[in-house]
Amino acid sequence: MKVLVLNCGSSSIKYQLFNMEDESVLAKGLVERIGLQGAVLTHRPSGKEKKVIAADIPDHSVGIKMVLEAMVHPEHGVLTKMEEIDAVGHRVAHGGSIFPKSALIDAQAKESIKSLFNIAPLHNPPAYLGIEAVEKALPGVPMVAVFDTSFHQTMPPAAYMYSLPYELYEKYGLRKYGFHGTSHKYVAYRAAALLNRPIEELKIITCHLGNGASITAIDGGKSIDTSMGFTPLEGLTMGTRCGDLDPAIVTFLEEQEGLSCSEVNNLLNKKSGVLGISGVSSDFRDIEEAAAQGNKRAQLALDVFAHDVKKYIGAYAAALNGLDVIVFTAGLGENSPEMREKICKDMEFFGIKLDGTKNKIRGQEADVSADDSKVRIMVIPTNEELVIARDTKQIVEQ
Ligand code: AMP
Repeated sequence: MKVLVLNCGSSSIKYQLFNMEDESVLAKGLVERIGLQGAVLTHRPSGKEKKVIAADIPDHSVGIKMVLEAMVHPEHGVLTKMEEIDAVGHRVAHGGSIFPKSALIDAQAKESIKSLFNIAPLHNPPAYLGIEAVEKALPGVPMVAVFDTSFHQTMPPAAYMYSLPYELYEKYGLRKYGFHGTSHKYVAYRAAALLNRPIEELKIITCHLGNGASITAIDGGKSIDTSMGFTPLEGLTMGTRCGDLDPAIVTFLEEQEGLSCSEVNNLLNKKSGVLGISGVSSDFRDIEEAAAQGNKRAQLALDVFAHDVKKYIGAYAAALNGLDVIVFTAGLGENSPEMREKICKDMEFFGIKLDGTKNKIRGQEADVSADDSKVRIMVIPTNEELVIARDTKQIVEQ
């Protein structure tokens, strides 16, 4: 079975084509700047030269058509005909409380995804455009939606309720949903497999530390709490997002700076986080470099980030009533020995002890805990696309 995985953003489409016989990637790529000047498709077929195609790409429909044409191209293609694509998996950010797991896309599922536009105005509409574009380009091919929120639907009410008037929860579904679910699920199950232990026996904290960052407490394979909330703004300090904040700051900024709702929203989402503190960059590589050269605000941003993660690990060890494994994943978690060391420093009280030598790895699976650490500390590169492909295969074969 061949499964195409799509991750549609407002002006981009990321894709991977899997051969599910051996879960190999046949091709992957990215359409960028949809609807803008300088739109481009970068197609990377396995075992062949990458192909960069600049074109006018006014919308997602045209972008998807270009991706499919690239797949069957005589030189840089990997398929002889489009009919070889058996199913398409779509990453959809928000499944609300409607989708506790991945779902076959039919008319009702489409309506449900649409009904969530109000709580995910930035993320669900582009995914929906992708779904409609594939319907047009590959009529009759089954499609599956895989949600960033589904894995967290096992959280108990005590973890997901906000302390707001209950009527607002009933009226708007105002509650914590959590995101990065496919990533947290993948690395948790992979950790159990690498440790050769049943996941049902394990208490795991997964740290997805990238430009967006979140942390999840997983008990016996189920998410019981996670740091992102109603939107991906809550929780850890991130590249440009503020994370946890005294909510009174929002009205303070509106009053003192005369900012509108959308200006505050923009400030909290785009100008805050480690970018806001450091004034250097949202990219941790730049910040680590600046800090190493003595930039105090860059150092402060790293200190704040590490402190945040450390605090959540402590909180989640309490929520789990124990801890067997910590997993680091995503851009920073996989690639920064320095940040992993900073986070795990002075955590012996919790039985968390890193091995400085084993920790000197980037981007590969490894157990980096000291031999006498009670908690296993692991680095596991995430693979959200593979989870989407697996769920898609499983659902269309039912
Ligand atoms: P992601 O959102 O998972 O793609 O992660 C992006 C973040 O990971 C960016 O802030 C990068 O700076 C960070 N990152 C990637 N590689 C490294 C590295 N070698 N050292 C430190 N940070 C890294």
